[in-house]
Amino acid sequence: MAGTAAASPSCIFCQIARSSTTTTLLHTDEKVVAFQDINPSASRHYLVIPVDHIATVKDLRRRTEDYSLVSHMLNVGQTLLSRDAPNSIQYRFGFHQPPLNSVNHLHLHCLALPYVPRTGGEG
Ligand SMILES: [Zn+2]
Ligand SMILES: [Zn+2]
Repeated sequence: MAGTAAASPSCIFCQIARSSTTTTLLHTDEKVVAFQDINPSASRHYLVIPVDHIATVKDLRRRTEDYSLVSHMLNVGQTLLSRDAPNSIQYRFGFHQPPLNSVNHLHLHCLALPYVPRTGGEG
């Protein structure tokens, strides 16, 4: 399961959205899917992505229907976190601003604080 990072010719999030990976999906509907960040930085750290390949937040601004997509992504994230981390001290939601995208497919980070220290020892 290691060493495939830059080798894939196609978008990993598109593959996840189409369930062609082993990633466990926390939520699926016709617009978005949600799953756990592979490298979580908080007690809960989920990603919500559109099923369609939309590269960045900038690509959203040209399409008015995408405003409802973004609010839907936020809704899904809030619902998952309030279900799975009801005692969290704070929720945080955020898109990367270009050029800081780690994956070139729009994704909403949904974190339930506190942050967790990186131990480097996943078991
Ligand atoms: Zn994609
Ligand atoms: Zn990211």
